Amino acid sequence: MQRRNFLKNSTKGTAGLLATPLLASCSDSKKEKTIAGEQPILKPIVICTWDFHNASAKAWEVLEKGGNALDAVEQGVMIEEADTENQTVGFGGRPDRDGKVTLDACIMDKDGNCGAVLCMQNIAHPISVARKVMEETPHVMLAGKGAEQFAYEQGFVKTNLLTEKSKKEWVEWQKTSQYEPIINIENHDTIGMLAIDANGDISGACTTSGMAYKMSGRVGDSPIIGAGLFVDNEVGGATATGVGEEVVRTVGSFLIVELMRQGKSPQEACKEGVKRIIAKNKDKQDFQIGFIAINKKGETGGYCIQPGFTYRTYSKEGHANNPSDSFIKT
Ligand code: ASP
Repeated sequence: MQRRNFLKNSTKGTAGLLATPLLASCSDSKKEKTIAGEQPILKPIVICTWDFHNASAKAWEVLEKGGNALDAVEQGVMIEEADTENQTVGFGGRPDRDGKVTLDACIMDKDGNCGAVLCMQNIAHPISVARKVMEETPHVMLAGKGAEQFAYEQGFVKTNLLTEKSKKEWVEWQKTSQYEPIINIENHDTIGMLAIDANGDISGACTTSGMAYKMSGRVGDSPIIGAGLFVDNEVGGATATGVGEEVVRTVGSFLIVELMRQGKSPQEACKEGVKRIIAKNKDKQDFQIGFIAINKKGETGGYCIQPGFTYRTYSKEGHANNPSDSFIKT
């Protein structure tokens, strides 16, 4: 499997150059309160994995109108879930190796409440079902048929998520059935999103169709709280994209938030998160992971293994697609 040609659009040489200046250069007059007289806070702000401009713009629209971070991240990632051209998230996502589109998503709010759906079929907006799990049940995760049944009970409509385009590619893939989940650097991938609203509260969301042609029942990091996403309103948030198995092994997003709690910047924390994964994979570095993070001050960072990963930032300072620095430089 080579669902994304990860190295194709790489940004060799420029990695990291634009990752923080957008935020670092902002003038103090534009910023609001400070934390204990320290650095001014930039809020509201939203960041997301990859160059998902429309999704970040939607989240920004919610934040700019005074909406809360939870609504912003939900409505933001829903843009990608609905986009049938995006074959790695939601409706139109590539199927598993049996031809079934199975979706994973999770959401987390400022109070540490969270909800997730795993391996759910036939529902176009898994992030909204994840939010319902968080708000309407005593549970955190619902999987498979149970998640789908719950979605119907909540009024979600049954939708065939397999588009002609994804079906055609899957039929073609079956000729070799090569299951090789390796690197990809297309600008279409799992969307992880983090936002700080005008109150300074943080929420996050993450949604994906997972690896193309995965084994039936396979779940990656994206719906796993602590792995694909973690938010702590006292500290910040982090989210991931890439080979989920490796993110799960290091509980990547939780790790990054804890590193920020210990004083690392979002950039330093993401870099350390990637280094922990590299340390567990001494003989294998031909895969991609990208982390992004935000701290309570609105500082952001991103770091990845292979060049080519980018992340979007959107605030009153403007919006930008920021090339992420990478462990492997070329
Ligand atoms: N992290 C996702 C997963 O492992 C895939 C991706 O981000 O591309 O399911």
